[in-house]
Amino acid sequence: MMRIAVIGAAGRMGKTLIQAITDADGVKLGAAIVEPTSSLLGADAGEVAGVGKLSVSIVSGIEQCINDFDVLVDFTTPELSVGNAAFCAKHGKSIVIGTTGLNDEQKSQLEEAGKQTPVVFAPNMSIGVNLTLKLLSLAAKILGDDYDVEVIEAHHRHKVDSPSGTALRMGEVVAEALGRDLKECAVYGREGQIGPRTQKEIGFETIRAGDVVGEHSVWFATEGERIEIAHKASSRMTFAKGAVRAAAWLESKPAGLYDMQDVLNLK
Ligand code: NAP
Repeated sequence: MMRIAVIGAAGRMGKTLIQAITDADGVKLGAAIVEPTSSLLGADAGEVAGVGKLSVSIVSGIEQCINDFDVLVDFTTPELSVGNAAFCAKHGKSIVIGTTGLNDEQKSQLEEAGKQTPVVFAPNMSIGVNLTLKLLSLAAKILGDDYDVEVIEAHHRHKVDSPSGTALRMGEVVAEALGRDLKECAVYGREGQIGPRTQKEIGFETIRAGDVVGEHSVWFATEGERIEIAHKASSRMTFAKGAVRAAAWLESKPAGLYDMQDVLNLK
């Protein structure tokens, strides 16, 4: 039975992950980790997640539970996730990272970790979103440069990064299919006397409001028609189930940096 550790166990995703692990076959919760200052230290992780007693006491550091897990699942902050990837690489543990908002240097640090241990890193672990990425690539290849591309996303009021990692990934997939570099063609949050739209830009619009779990819509618009490819998540469970599936998939995989397209065999 594969043992999973959840770091950020008291967070929105952390609690949902513990529920998903409890529901899944072939895996079990091995450890649960929170910040050292947390009032939940020593509490039962299952009770905190609302799934009943699991007899896994919450600890304050990954090194304290190193013998209790095979794979770490990490939905926390970029700095923490990068440090955890290096720790896992050093100690022969696999890691699944769902954290978003990593900069280029932090992403290259994950590549380094992937040289020593299996790492799955994906800004969105839902099966539906990963299928959507495939559909976007197909649409962009067929529609080409005549269609203006805009990525619109909405999330809950607590989200700290913008645009969402998923929106950026959608932009990357479309840019790649159109032979563009997203870094050169992305336009974020237009305001003021900006002039007409340029043909090859990919625009991003962000909404932050209430309790929206995650909604993404990509427009391909030209004179006379518009195609919208959209995904709406209604529960965090979709991300948690994907992360648990990724953790189970990592068993016996060689070192490498993988994404959900690898896990779902969508490449
Ligand atoms: P959240 O509720 O703020 O959870 C983050 C958790 O990390 C918090 O519980 C926080 O603890 C904990 N943490 C911070 N520093 C820590 C430390 N040193 N040791 C242990 N735990 C620590 O946020 P969320 O909504 O769950 O999202 C977390 C990340 O996942 C974000 O980057 C989000 O964009 C991403 N996400 C990805 C997907 C996907 O499918 N890939 C889906 C949803 C969300 P405190 O509460 O004590 O600060």
